[in-house]
This record gives sequence, structure tokens and C-alpha cells, in this order.
Amino acid sequence: MAETKRDYYEVLGVNKSADEAEIKKAYRALAKKYHPDANPGDKEAEKKFKEASEAYAVLSDPDKRRQYDQFGHAAFDGGSGGFGSGFDFTGADFSDIFGDIFGDLFGAGRTRGGGSSNGPMKGANIRTSVRITFEESVTGVDKEIELTLKDPCTNCKGTGARPGTSPETCSKCGGKGQVVYTQQSLFGMVRNVSSCPDCHGSGKVVKDKCPECHGTGYISSRKKIQVSIPAGIDNGQSVRIREKGEPGVNGGPRGDLLVEVVIQRHPIFQRNDMDVYSTAPISFAVATLGGEIYIDTVDGKVIYEVKAGTQTDTRVRLKGKGMPSLRNKQVRGDHYVTLVVQVPDRLSNEAKELLKEFDKVSGDTLNAVEQQSEGKDKKKKGFWNK
Ligand SMILES: [Zn+2]
Ligand SMILES: [Zn+2]
Repeated sequence: MAETKRDYYEVLGVNKSADEAEIKKAYRALAKKYHPDANPGDKEAEKKFKEASEAYAVLSDPDKRRQYDQFGHAAFDGGSGGFGSGFDFTGADFSDIFGDIFGDLFGAGRTRGGGSSNGPMKGANIRTSVRITFEESVTGVDKEIELTLKDPCTNCKGTGARPGTSPETCSKCGGKGQVVYTQQSLFGMVRNVSSCPDCHGSGKVVKDKCPECHGTGYISSRKKIQVSIPAGIDNGQSVRIREKGEPGVNGGPRGDLLVEVVIQRHPIFQRNDMDVYSTAPISFAVATLGGEIYIDTVDGKVIYEVKAGTQTDTRVRLKGKGMPSLRNKQVRGDHYVTLVVQVPDRLSNEAKELLKEFDKVSGDTLNAVEQQSEGKDKKKKGFWNK
């Protein structure tokens, strides 16, 4: 029997306006509570874990979240629904969150949930950031960043032992890299697995250290790395460069490099999602009579036809002049411009005379007290003068 799927926001216990950080925090708490490694054999916990993971995969991805907000579950499943039944998890990033959760579950250090401990293991991710201009975020840009990366030491081939000698099996953990102990707690016996303190999870100890790397097995050096930042990237989003993180352990792949993009504030443009916002001054005459003005957009200046009788703070939309979508450059947000009517504060005598003349001719003096036109002043007494 098909079950009704719960709302993803409800699953994570956040409201619809929750930001990325709140969603991540909510998921972390649930994943930690229901993770199968923390609840061996508990089917209900496993179901909850899968449900939360699916909700997180969607809500942590801005595009998927938008689709979900618009179409609900129908955006993703072909009717059957459920984790693993055609659900697309590409793009969802669980690795760093699970890294954190495993750290919390099993103590600090390089440990993994279950399985043999000193098999190949992916290296840790490295996080760094890069600053770009607003314009660069519109077009996309290639940046070169420099950072210190570790590589396996060539002298000892990464073992950390002096060439000619080899590391010995750790006696504390018997080469497993993990120590397991059980503990009585309020909830019954708890099995704890933590990284071996003697060998730091490697299962080996070095007695005679390699002089090049001082027994660490790694050499650090400054490296230049090209980062290709896609058009449309938003402030705080990260670009993932595969296998440029910490070296893997026991032949595992390197971790990834996550480059957070920091976008400088622009003097004119503000961004919200894919839309761009700005203000543009217009003259009293253009606002009144209408006319063409130049408006700065991320594509450069465009000509805009202001309608006659435009009031100040009127917001107009320039369709398709916003930010490009990360997935498809051709898809663009909009640009909203607030037109602000400028009141002239310095006028020539001639202009002043013309304006007075205009006032007289238009006959539209609103709340003005001093009336130029004869005969009207008596009729326009306000409420307080009665
Ligand atoms: Zn070495
Ligand atoms: Zn050990």
C-alpha cells in the first residue's frame, strides 16, 4: 500500500521560509538521531532517516526546492515515490554533513561507520573562499587561487617511515585503526567506536621516522588551482573541485576542495535570488510627460520608455535582465527598477517663472496655502479653519 508522503518542511520540522542554515541544522539533528549506525536494526529509525535525507536532498538544493515549492512531491516522483525509487540525488551534498555527524557519533578523528577500518578512505574536504565582483558573478569567471596542499611524501612513499624500514602494526588497536568499547548509559549499553589514539586510525605506527616528512608521510606545498566560477553564482555558494582536498588514506581518493564565493557589494545593483534590484532617478518633466531614459542593467545601459504620469517610487520590471540561472545561462531572472522622481532644488529665475506659470495654468495646487490664483483662497479652507 502506498503511503502518503509527508511534506518535506514538516519532515525536517522547519517552516517554509527557513534558510539554508536552518535546514541544514534541522537535518543534522535528525540524521544524527536516526542514523542507522546509531540505531542498529531499528527499522523505524531507518525509515525516518531516509525520509529526512530525501527532504534534505530537495530542500538544500535551491533549484529543487523551488520546484518542490511549486509542484510538491509531483515535481520528483513518477507516482511511486520514496527514497531510491527513481529519486534524483545528483547535486545533493551529503558528504560534509555526514563527515560532521560521524565525528559527533563516533568521536573525533578519522573513523568510519562500520566495515574494516584501514581500507582505502577518501581524504577530508578543504574549504576556502574567493572574492569576486558583482559583474563577475553575472558572466562567470575563472580565478586562480593559491593554497597549501599536502601530498604523499616521495621519500618514504607516504609511509612516514625512514626508507628501508617500514611502519609497524599498532599494538593498541591491533592494526584496525579503531578502538571499540562498550559503556553503560541511561539508555542501556552503548557501543562506542573511536579512532585509535596511538596510530590516529592508520593501524600503523612509525618507529624510525622519514627525515623528509618527519614521519607524517606528507609534504605540504603552495599550489595554484584554477577555479571556474559559473555565471549566476550567488554569494555564499560553493564551487566543488573534485580531488583537490586532503590526500586519501590507504590508497583512497583525495577529498574535495570547496571554494565559497564571496561577491562584493555593488554600488547600484542588489540581488535577491535571480532578480536584480536598483533605483533610477527620473526628472519631474519625464515623470509628467513620459519619455525615454537610460537604465543601467547587468547587461549595460538599456533604453526604457517612461509612461506619462509616472509617480515617484514606481517599480518597473525589465524582463529577463536579471541574473542567469546556474544550470542554464539562457534562463534569466528579472530586473526591477524603482523610478524616483527628482524634485529640482536649484532653478534659474527663468525656470522658476515658468514653473509658477505652470502652476497657475495647471490649477492643481493640492494643499498649498498661498494661492496665486484669485478667488480660490476662500473656498479651500481646511478642516481646522472652520
Ligand atoms: Zn617521508
Ligand atoms: Zn592503533
